[in-house]
Amino acid sequence: MVMKSLAQIAAALEGYDPQALSVPQVQAFLEQLAPWRHDGPVEALPVMAAGERILARDVVSPVDVPPHDNSAMDGFAFAGSDLSATEPTVLQCVGHALAGAAWTGPPPQKGQCLRITTGAIMPAGLDTVVAHEMVQVQGERITIPSGRVQTGDNRRLRGEDIAQGQAALRQGQRLTPAAWGLLASLGLPEVAVRQRLRVAYFSTGDEILSLGQTPREGAVYDSNRYTVCGLLQRMGCEWIDLGVVPDDPQRLRAAFEEAAQRADAIITSGGVSVGEADHTKALMRELGDVDFWRIAMRPGRPMAVGRMGQTLMFGLPGNPVAVMVTFLAFVRPALWRMMGCTDAPPLLVRAHSQQAMRKKAGRTEYQRGVVSRSDSGQMQVSTTGNQGSGVLSSMVQGNALIVLHHAQGHVAVGEPVDVMLFDGAI
Ligand code: AMP
Ligand code: MG
Repeated sequence: MVMKSLAQIAAALEGYDPQALSVPQVQAFLEQLAPWRHDGPVEALPVMAAGERILARDVVSPVDVPPHDNSAMDGFAFAGSDLSATEPTVLQCVGHALAGAAWTGPPPQKGQCLRITTGAIMPAGLDTVVAHEMVQVQGERITIPSGRVQTGDNRRLRGEDIAQGQAALRQGQRLTPAAWGLLASLGLPEVAVRQRLRVAYFSTGDEILSLGQTPREGAVYDSNRYTVCGLLQRMGCEWIDLGVVPDDPQRLRAAFEEAAQRADAIITSGGVSVGEADHTKALMRELGDVDFWRIAMRPGRPMAVGRMGQTLMFGLPGNPVAVMVTFLAFVRPALWRMMGCTDAPPLLVRAHSQQAMRKKAGRTEYQRGVVSRSDSGQMQVSTTGNQGSGVLSSMVQGNALIVLHHAQGHVAVGEPVDVMLFDGAI
């Protein structure tokens, strides 16, 4: 695959200024830097082991699903032509068609019916099923009230779910639980999926403690590796945890080199702010083709992006909420593309703001919100309170990001705003 240099991408983007980028500009840049991959390595896996993987090829159904016309109900099967339009229909029951085997008795004649169970093959000549609870039964005689049943009711048609030769699933789709089931319904024991994307990450900063280390003044425990790891798990990536790397050029170099060698993408956090007196930025510059950005967004203003060899690199800001927001806004879509995943981006839905929000036009803001249903059934959203970029509890408390777009100004009470529900993403 031909890779464009950062300079080539930048030259093709209108108004590119690394010191003043809007969120849509960043997204447009990343679409070039990490384009959709349809040629990644592929492996064949048993369906049960392929959950959350990305399909590498279209799955064409070798069979009709369901394989026969069959009954959707427990009831009585008969020919629709026996139905009387104006009066109750009386039929004589002459046998019982069970699920799992075809009816082998004599074909029912005019005015006859068969008792049938859900899933049983429709006996030849019969095309309609009436549910038990809808008929009067007297011995072997049933009476169907007039006007309640029509020809073809409660009959599932052969191939109505998926027809033989039809693409049941498309390459690039994620194997969700429903897709697992669908694959199994086709009788396919194995499926071709993409190999997992390998993503290495580490945290930087002399003040960052790993779990188990003794607290000391001025130090904080590393939370970014945990959120990043969790977000990668949710995407079905393979993760390589390179720990906390102190602000020491040799240790940083070793970490970057190991990551570039082992992974398809690297995610670091911390050390990319303006005026940061550390070695992280210098090493990124030295080891890769890297740009340092200031993005018109909150939280998450500084960010470094580039490549080390074939490996894509994201240098996220250090603040814990900024890490999660930049991951969701930029890293996640880029990784999906690298994985060849065609799933639609998260749906933005509208909810009515329960409070006024101050918002400066000219930057994108992501506030943490709690979306709920009002008494009248409308979607509404309130913020979680303190929106500081270090307040990680806001991400736990919230169930959505309120997305206040670049050009948007203050929000009035009751005004509709876009929200991105966390759903399964975080
Ligand atoms: P930086 O981007 O390095 O200037 O860091 C911004 C803020 O985020 C500082 O308060 C850091 O202490 C904090 N921070 C950086 N990395 C981490 C981390 N891995 N876990 C928790 N907080 C962090
Ligand atoms: Mg720092």
